[in-house]
Amino acid sequence: MSDQQYSFFESVQKSFDKAAKFTKWETGLLEQIKACNAVYQMRFPVKRDDGSIEVIEAYRVQHSQHKTPCKGGIRFSEEVNQDEVMALAALMTYKCAIVNVPFGGAKGGIKVNPRKYSEFELQKITRRYTAELIRKNFIGPGTDVPAPDYGTGEREMAWIVDTYESMRPGEIDGQACVTGKPITQGGVRGRKEATGLGVFYGVREVCNMPDVMEKQGLTVGVEGKTVVVQGLGNVGYHSAKYFRENGSKVVCIAEFEGAIYNENGLNEDEVFLHRKKSGSILNFTGAKNLAKSSDALELECDILIPAALENVIHGGNAHNVKAKIIGEAANGPLTPEADDILAKKGTLIIPDMYLNAGGVTVSYFEWLKNLSHVRYGRMEKRFTENMNKLILSTMEDMTGKTVTKEERSYIEHGPNEVDLVYSGLEETMIDATHEIVNCWKANPQIPDMRTAAYVVAINKVGTAYAELGIFP
Ligand code: NAD
Repeated sequence: MSDQQYSFFESVQKSFDKAAKFTKWETGLLEQIKACNAVYQMRFPVKRDDGSIEVIEAYRVQHSQHKTPCKGGIRFSEEVNQDEVMALAALMTYKCAIVNVPFGGAKGGIKVNPRKYSEFELQKITRRYTAELIRKNFIGPGTDVPAPDYGTGEREMAWIVDTYESMRPGEIDGQACVTGKPITQGGVRGRKEATGLGVFYGVREVCNMPDVMEKQGLTVGVEGKTVVVQGLGNVGYHSAKYFRENGSKVVCIAEFEGAIYNENGLNEDEVFLHRKKSGSILNFTGAKNLAKSSDALELECDILIPAALENVIHGGNAHNVKAKIIGEAANGPLTPEADDILAKKGTLIIPDMYLNAGGVTVSYFEWLKNLSHVRYGRMEKRFTENMNKLILSTMEDMTGKTVTKEERSYIEHGPNEVDLVYSGLEETMIDATHEIVNCWKANPQIPDMRTAAYVVAINKVGTAYAELGIFP
């Protein structure tokens, strides 16, 4: 089997088929779960700053409407093509199912390299793309809700919500047409770091399982583990931050221009600032430059976090990967051939489909916030604080002892929006990890964690479809 045989969408289908064998669903229903329900391919012109006209190629794919709205990010990349967007949309369906987010899967992509366009040009492209989605009813709080992905962020989401609201004036829930917005435009606190934090929560939960760690020849817990991160974008930066803050050593960070290594650990924020200032990740004080960026993937380490793009570990380099655990922060970082090679080597692969679901989980919280038109914590924060103060002072009176100033502020503190979002995310990632691992353990025929994740997803989507019946 060679890497060339499968497109990204075919790889997803292949993983699906591998798992479908372990479910009870009939072939027809499985075919419906697998199919991409709607593919919107569009072309539109944009006037560049130099006066020339360029035709832009873009997509929005709705993979499943077994639950609505559909949900999935928008990617800006030169590599965007229909197959890739279909694959990513399918992954979104399964991802939402695993983390109990009641959405169908979708994905969008615009075939541009954002570095080659001015901010004004990018704004025109984003707004025109949104207008095209509105025309075909491919965006809206109850139909399809985009979010950030590779090459996009809060800025683009703000342009999308503004375009939507100006074209649909008076729509009371209009802000819920997109997530990942800036806080001032209806965003939720904690969304920016959500995917990286979710990656950390998921890997930490696996690392806390003594039997799983024993099999990998590792000690329990993330503390002291060496971590390599590929990609210092939104997901990579935040993954690195939470591993470092929780006692792991991020020994290497790779970007596309190169990679740096320090056995004592790197601080992602200092590296980020260095890259911003100097234009490159290389030549960071105290770190060694690696000859090639992709060498990072082959370093000796406990945990490898690919957080850039798909297919970075393939038949050509999988044999050289030495990590004991791979946490798939990016979507589809391993080709099916790499998956097979690494499975044979005994590498534990924590699959993208649920590991990077933190973004969509917190997007769900943002959507709920927009629909309820109230900030999380607004109603209960003061009440909880007053209650905590009362409980504490009653206990102090009863015992004759007092707590320290630090303990007091910790105990009395009522939840802010970000506390509630983190708590919801942590609970979601812990639950999903156990559900997948339990499914894996319950059936010794299931070969790996990815297949177990697919089994969980297929069962949930299958149940929803079966309960819906067939539309005549
Ligand atoms: P991003 O654009 O913020 O960052 C990606 C980074 O990877 C960039 O800094 C880029 O320069 C770097 N990069 C590109 N090619 C590289 C290479 N070959 N080697 C090293 N670095 C390279 O994107 P992101 O939002 O962090 O997304 C990264 C991945 O995570 C994508 O696969 C995306 O689909 C997935 N993901 C993102 C989210 C989210 O909430 N942003 C959610 C789920 C999954």
